[in-house]
Amino acid sequence: MSDILKEILKDLPANKISDASFEGANIVLYTKDEDFFLNDKGIVKKIVNKIKKRIELRPDPTLCLELEKAEKKIRSIIDKTAGIDKITFDPQRSVVIIEVEKPGTTIGKKGELLQKIKAETFWIPIVRRKPAIRNQLIENIRSVLYKNSDYRKKFLHKTGERIYNGWLRGKKDEWVRITPLGGSRQVGRSCILLQTPESRVLLDCGVDVASEKQPYPHLEAPEFDIKELDAIILSHSHIDHSGLIPLIYKYGFRGPVYCTRPTRDVSALLQLDLIKIQRGNDGEPIYTSEDVKEMVKHTISLEYGEVTDVTPDLRITLYNAGHILGSAMIHIHIGNGLHNFLYTGDLKYAKTNLLSPANTYFPRLETLMIESTYGAREAVMTNPKEQDKTLGEMITNTIKRGGKVLMPVLGSGRAQEIIVLIERMIRTGTIEEIPIYIDGLVWDITAIHTAYPEFLNNTIREQIFHKDNNPFIQDNIKRIGSAKERKELLDYKGPCVILATSGMLVGGPSVEYLKQLGNNKKNSLIFTCYQGQGSLGRIIQRGVKEISFKNGSKNEVTQINLEVHKLEITGHSDRRELMNFVGKCNPRARKVIVNHGESSRCLDLARSIHKTYRIETIAPKNLESVRLV
Ligand SMILES: [Zn+2]
Repeated sequence: MSDILKEILKDLPANKISDASFEGANIVLYTKDEDFFLNDKGIVKKIVNKIKKRIELRPDPTLCLELEKAEKKIRSIIDKTAGIDKITFDPQRSVVIIEVEKPGTTIGKKGELLQKIKAETFWIPIVRRKPAIRNQLIENIRSVLYKNSDYRKKFLHKTGERIYNGWLRGKKDEWVRITPLGGSRQVGRSCILLQTPESRVLLDCGVDVASEKQPYPHLEAPEFDIKELDAIILSHSHIDHSGLIPLIYKYGFRGPVYCTRPTRDVSALLQLDLIKIQRGNDGEPIYTSEDVKEMVKHTISLEYGEVTDVTPDLRITLYNAGHILGSAMIHIHIGNGLHNFLYTGDLKYAKTNLLSPANTYFPRLETLMIESTYGAREAVMTNPKEQDKTLGEMITNTIKRGGKVLMPVLGSGRAQEIIVLIERMIRTGTIEEIPIYIDGLVWDITAIHTAYPEFLNNTIREQIFHKDNNPFIQDNIKRIGSAKERKELLDYKGPCVILATSGMLVGGPSVEYLKQLGNNKKNSLIFTCYQGQGSLGRIIQRGVKEISFKNGSKNEVTQINLEVHKLEITGHSDRRELMNFVGKCNPRARKVIVNHGESSRCLDLARSIHKTYRIETIAPKNLESVRLV
């Protein structure tokens, strides 16, 4: 048994504790004593204050009421209006997960109903919101977790042992370095290796889908050894940050991935989609759905602001990044006060239609690593109200011509923002009511948004909770789920808006729509995100009028006659917002590392930060290590 567990047991009354184990950085104690479980007289709290770690007291599985009886009891305690959907027991951990429509009603005033469930069933209740849109993929992810709960318990305990059992590699010198393995001086394949004498962690591990030559980060770098890897910390679900993680599992990694719950769910969806796209391109996918499942099995989800140890000398906290649902900035407290590092991932420092602006307050901060997608001097966006107006006009003009609007979108982020925007424009009478068709993957991700409204900004939350006016569930929003439905939609003569992946027209249904809609002047194509170098989107933006596609052995040509527009709404900060973010960070960083932008943009932003704030800046290339301490 680990020393810390022995230490804790010393402070507890003898024979009260039947088992003690880790769940990641959390410590869980099990008791066979009913009275002690219901009232420990503040003993556990005292130990928490002493060792400053999270400790949970649970009933020993032998105390738990039989499943059938427990379920009956729970249903009788919770009010009918809460809308119980599903009750799932995790007997290994004495935990019961209750999925409901209204979590507030389920919990009761000050959690009194949960207390009652504990006292009468000897199960620990966890309440989860039932997604407003049922989705098979979310169910699959949850069932992977439930079905493997035995394995999960062992895995979480092992993760705790790594954290608490002291230094593995022997503390020698004090140093900290980061090495960008991808995503520096470029957008795509983000991957950063953080090393200390004791720890090796990866921040993100993505795929550059727009690049045929170098789509993957430099995992062959001498610094990186998969056998030494302690953990992966994932900022958000976009494929250029999450896309290669299943490959690490394919190569045998069995440690944890830390991220938020929406990031876990959306990443899995996007990775499964990547497999499909790679197969569709007549290639062999780099990993399979089994590897995605391994990733899900090893995910440890964190809330924003939840502090957790990941190794003996690294403690992380995720903060809202404002970029997409569940996106996080990763704050790393290194070596007990030695250094504090913040990796922004992708960042939006402004309130959007969906999310609150990125957090700027941190307990401590020395080095800031910031993205620069729109870091160039001229990359200042027109104000959001103007953009809303422009989109309204583009749609109205296309309706007048009787055409269709095709919007290639990243599955997560822009698509849902646009749905909210169009819903609002229709509700306020800015545009006519028009059908919005949402193709497969975008639909799935929209469904995930309805499962995690607590990650959305207060305006949308209000709309969903209090006015019962969920912008994602409207009569004019329809799902396209198959090739047959896609064809029917294209045969349909009336105007409509179509949202489909991929956002850069590199594979996926958006390309299929473009082939059919491209030659008709009545239609419009509206780009909604950054178009990577080498992508078809970038080529069309350059004004190319004829595109050829491979169809088996034949080449098919599509004329680009439709109107092409670019919408400058983005989940990224523009130049001004990036500069403001650096200035507003409290405390201010002493060193800034700029990444995630084309070379000139990285350099431009780095120069300006240095000039304005007199902070040391650097824009390393891939494989160029930076020593932080
Ligand atoms: Zn992103």
